[in-house]
Amino acid sequence: MQIQQKLAILADAAKYDASCASSGTSKRNSVGGRGIGSTEGSGICHSYAPDGRCISLLKILLTNFCQYDCLYCVNRVTSNVPRARFSVDEVVALTLDFYRRNCIEGLFLSSGIIRNPDYTMEQVVEVARVLREEHDFRGYIHLKTIPDASPELLEKAGRYADRLSINVELPTQEGLEALAPEKDAAAIRRSMARLTIHIADAKGAASEAAAGPVVSLPRATPRRAAAPKFAPAGQSTQMIVGADATDDAAILAASANLYGAYKLRRVYYSAFSPIPDASSSLPLVAPPMVREHRLYQADWLMRFYGFAHDEIVPSAAPDATGVTGSSMLSLDVDPKLAWALAHRDRFPVDLNRAPREMLLRVPGLGVKAVDRLLAARRVRRVRSDDLGRLHVPLRKVLPFVLTADHQPGRALDAESLAALVRPAPVQASLF
Ligand code: SF4
Repeated sequence: MQIQQKLAILADAAKYDASCASSGTSKRNSVGGRGIGSTEGSGICHSYAPDGRCISLLKILLTNFCQYDCLYCVNRVTSNVPRARFSVDEVVALTLDFYRRNCIEGLFLSSGIIRNPDYTMEQVVEVARVLREEHDFRGYIHLKTIPDASPELLEKAGRYADRLSINVELPTQEGLEALAPEKDAAAIRRSMARLTIHIADAKGAASEAAAGPVVSLPRATPRRAAAPKFAPAGQSTQMIVGADATDDAAILAASANLYGAYKLRRVYYSAFSPIPDASSSLPLVAPPMVREHRLYQADWLMRFYGFAHDEIVPSAAPDATGVTGSSMLSLDVDPKLAWALAHRDRFPVDLNRAPREMLLRVPGLGVKAVDRLLAARRVRRVRSDDLGRLHVPLRKVLPFVLTADHQPGRALDAESLAALVRPAPVQASLF
């Protein structure tokens, strides 16, 4: 098989993995076998480095053969799709070629499981080793790690990769048992815990090295001894949304647990997309993409705005018959606005007096805007003109705040207020 054909198959198969975020991609859907990956050809996707830079990555699988049978996965053993497999040398050559042509700044490499987890992980790690040690590759490397692989291989992967990820795939144990019975939730958690410890140790060693004695190197400027690195961009994971009946409250609770217990950099949410010859246990249609978007917004609120997961979307209480309904984020309004509408008693917030935590809860005020308001109010009273200069959406903010020259109008019921602050519908053009 030509390398171009392999690339088409293995880049297409990699697009389902959201744990290396792509921005601005079209809907992920392989039904009909169209496309070869993200919006740009040959599996190049965009991801974000820890310093916020947007970087292009070659996003591919080593192989889409897999001996597991996860029902939601297009690469499962029973899937009827064309298969391909790269050798280690082919992935290395492709990466270097794209890199030298300035098409990418790094590599995202995942794989189906062939022979056994250790054999597969060895191949994945070998790609990174050859790139780093034999070609002195300084680009970004994100490796998908296989939870059942040996701790030694995970440790080796972290030495070469900037980021490691292990997909939890489904937020609940029941979901995993039903749709991915060969996956072991305990093994996933164990491997995540190992990575957490290695990452923390490497960070600790780096701080000690920075504070430690200066060493003299022959014929060089005296320098401090460098600490060994281990996945300096941390670890991330992915959850599939909408392949089972798990509600948003349970998904966010699982994410909060992952952030707390394993210090993950990111949890990625990937809306389930229909696959060819799907199992009858799976839904026939994908969940609305806006659900994935709302989960990202809620995730952002947990990480940067001080919201607890159960404030954003409380778990549903059992009804009279003892059946617990599902508890979902609103698809109509963003979760911060939904919270504000449900807690009208906490508003209006006085922009000249309220603590930072409460300013962060005002719909339409982002972290930067809040910090600039706090700086401004140290020297003068904040007025509505100041909000205009911060380029915040006044239509959304003003009904929830008090300033030196503004008081929100008469009390509106939540529904009218939601209608007032919702973005104006875009007029369809006739021409
Ligand atoms: S182990 Fe990974 S690649 Fe294999 S079937 Fe499951 S999700 Fe797909």
